[in-house]
Amino acid sequence: MNTPSGPRVAATHVVAQERTEGPERLPREMDAWVVARPGPMGTHPLERTRLPVPTPGPGELLVWVEVCAVCRTDLHLAEGDLTPRRPRTVPGHEVVGRVAALGPGTAGPAPGTRVGVAWLRSTCGICRYCRRGAENLCPSSTYTGWDADGGYAEYVTALADYVYALPEDEPADKLAPLLCAGIIGYRALLRADLPPGGRLGIYGFGASAHLTAQIAIAEGAAVHVMTRSEAAQELARTLGAASVGGSAGVPPEPLDAAILFAPVGDLVPVALAALDRGGTLAVAGIHLTDIPVLNYQRHLFQERTLRSVTANTRADGRRFLELASLHRPRVTTTPYPFDAADEALRDLATDRVDGAAVLFI
Ligand SMILES: [Zn+2]
Ligand SMILES: [Zn+2]
Repeated sequence: MNTPSGPRVAATHVVAQERTEGPERLPREMDAWVVARPGPMGTHPLERTRLPVPTPGPGELLVWVEVCAVCRTDLHLAEGDLTPRRPRTVPGHEVVGRVAALGPGTAGPAPGTRVGVAWLRSTCGICRYCRRGAENLCPSSTYTGWDADGGYAEYVTALADYVYALPEDEPADKLAPLLCAGIIGYRALLRADLPPGGRLGIYGFGASAHLTAQIAIAEGAAVHVMTRSEAAQELARTLGAASVGGSAGVPPEPLDAAILFAPVGDLVPVALAALDRGGTLAVAGIHLTDIPVLNYQRHLFQERTLRSVTANTRADGRRFLELASLHRPRVTTTPYPFDAADEALRDLATDRVDGAAVLFI
């Protein structure tokens, strides 16, 4: 685990060497975790290994990883719910680190700059979706920790145009969960079309939900939280939820909007039934178990809307990070040493993580 006087100083040292003496002064190898055999966490799909320190390509940065938060998507990749796009990929896409080196033709940010590396790794920039500002739908988009190695490692490469500027005055572990949990939750909030001062239902209350709830509350919403874990229910109360109930509970008032964070298709009709006329349900996850048969009258009629959420645009990310600077959501984290990445994912699989799990590299 890092200490402020330990590896961070060492990294600055590496940066200084890199700027004056070239990348051969970076270590040749690094510690990393890879998804070796996708399968249930009980079968140990992750493997701790040594890998060469990656070389940043044109337009890319080499980022020295300070912390990497653990996302449910990492769990879906480890367990094989999401098909691997390449073998033995390093997971992790909520990285806070410092620029260690620039690839050929990369203009900046300068070595030493604190940056965030997130899920959206690249888009084509020329397709009809990219051109109309919907780069989250780009068919050629690639993702950190899926199409390319991610942040469960000492170093990661990222395209300079896709990293986020981060403040220096926040601890790295409080910033990391903002980079996916926060950004995707914010995208889901936008997709849920919550009117100003509206009533928002949140189903499932993990890392993403607890950040989204705070932004919604700060912007004037009444937030009703439905979740099974008692610790999560307690956290929701502490953060100012208007009501808290069980995972399939019925909120005390009809909802203008709802977000389903739990990857549980059975909850789709439950949430739709809780919507007011004209309400919208956004499904936040990248993976969802099968949705049961819907009843048109009970679940959709009266112009209720069911929507999915697919990744995010960089504009969503920048807007959310601005809102986070403004509202300063309380970021609940559970720290894990780098050695315990598999344990963090096992705990996430069994709902034993309070807020967001964060790996200290
Ligand atoms: Zn595109
Ligand atoms: Zn994620």
